Amino acid sequence: MAATSDDSEAGSAGPVYRRVLLKISGESFCRRGESGISMSEVESLALQIQRVAASGVELAIVCGGGNILRGRQFSEISDAIAPATAHYMGMLATVINALALQDALENLNVQTRVQSAIRMEGVAEPFIRRRCIRHLEKGRVVILAAGTGSPFVTTDTAAALRAREIEADVVLKGTRVDGVFSEDPELNPHAVRYSHITFADVLSQGLKVMDAQAFHHCMEHGIPIVVFNYLKEGNIERVIRGERLGTRVTPTAEPTA
Ligand code: UDP
Repeated sequence: MAATSDDSEAGSAGPVYRRVLLKISGESFCRRGESGISMSEVESLALQIQRVAASGVELAIVCGGGNILRGRQFSEISDAIAPATAHYMGMLATVINALALQDALENLNVQTRVQSAIRMEGVAEPFIRRRCIRHLEKGRVVILAAGTGSPFVTTDTAAALRAREIEADVVLKGTRVDGVFSEDPELNPHAVRYSHITFADVLSQGLKVMDAQAFHHCMEHGIPIVVFNYLKEGNIERVIRGERLGTRVTPTAEPTA
């Protein structure tokens, strides 16, 4: 594994990936510490995505819904709601985010499609793998909503499963921190960020990259994950150009640069 504080190494000018799956958590849709949707946050996200789409990479996005509702938390508040119902509510929250992102992107003339894992033809296409791939090939950004369509998992798992289905080269996990750290950087300011780490090292050190199911799916199928801070302007584009920022999680160790 390689620890680093260097964010600046340049990559090539064009995308180094052909097709990517970008996971954006619900907190990206609201201001820090708030909930709900802030269209100014969504618009700045859309601006970054516009530039990525223009680079020619095929881009599918899985939206989270935690800015509105997370099933597990919500069902713990009250016995009046069945856990499964709460999780379905969480999935619907992701559809709300997807629609907001779609409009923000279309306002920037980015062609998009929303595909939902829960059928709701009035607002979104159903998720159909081959159709999703066709949209991507035509240069449309496909926003994947409603997670997997099944309760009790998170949109991290949806991202990992969809990445495999659509044969994405990588899962990009946009977060509010700079990558994977030796310890929680908010608790220990001396925590070290890894520029690169293997799946095995993540497990042996008990580090957190994505939720466990998502992580194991990527590990089992050799799908690399890049964890990076999407809040820093231009970072999504930089990751797609292969710049060494954030943390790359891969099956085998990479040679140190
Ligand atoms: N969810 C679900 N099945 C899925 C994806 C999501 O039941 O396949 C529910 C789950 O309750 C989750 C909520 O939708 O908490 C919102 O998704 P998530 O927590 O992953 O959003 P994020 O943390 O990324 O904002």
